Amino acid sequence: MFSGGESSVDFFKKLKDRLVPHQTDEEEDKKSTIQAPEEEIEKMEKKGKKVALSACLYGMKCRYDGSDNKDVKLLNVLHSNDYEIILFCPEDDCFGTPRPTMDLVYTENGIKAISNLTGADLTPHIQEYAIDFFESNPDIELFVGKDRSPSCGVKSARLYDRDRSLIKSDATGVMAQVAKDYIKESIDAEEYLLLQESKLKGNQRDI
Ligand code: SF4
Repeated sequence: MFSGGESSVDFFKKLKDRLVPHQTDEEEDKKSTIQAPEEEIEKMEKKGKKVALSACLYGMKCRYDGSDNKDVKLLNVLHSNDYEIILFCPEDDCFGTPRPTMDLVYTENGIKAISNLTGADLTPHIQEYAIDFFESNPDIELFVGKDRSPSCGVKSARLYDRDRSLIKSDATGVMAQVAKDYIKESIDAEEYLLLQESKLKGNQRDI
């Protein structure tokens, strides 16, 4: 587990055994040996605009089942845009990995993250992590969240009613909701990639 108060470099050093290192397209083509984590740390220390990124998209094995959502295309775009990447994973920090899944549920007290194992309301833990993370990283300019996550999805999380019937698929996850109070731009990873591709083809907004 790691805390939002740590720098991404500290987080990286502690959990490097759970990392699938990122390789650029060129490196992938060469089929070279895997990069040492220290080289990854240097990349993350590269100065530039700061982006908060769901750690599973970077290759951290922090999903509920201990797997990752590594997105090489996304990482190449962020690196080429000169972003310094700050990783976060509220669920790993709050509940460990592996862990039971959760869903966003519309309740009489608002939208809550509810454990699929115990039915407990996990929302306050994630909110507390998120506030600590954003307070500790005040100069982040962009939040890129994992699509469909009840924690990190920006406009893509599934929202259910108490009977677990789907209400909508464009809800905002708990951490992404907190991000709106701290960061100007928040976007789902898939939409970010689409925008970047559009930008290459024409004149789309630059983020
Ligand atoms: S989607 Fe968010 S909470 Fe889920 S594993 Fe990725 S970073 Fe962690």
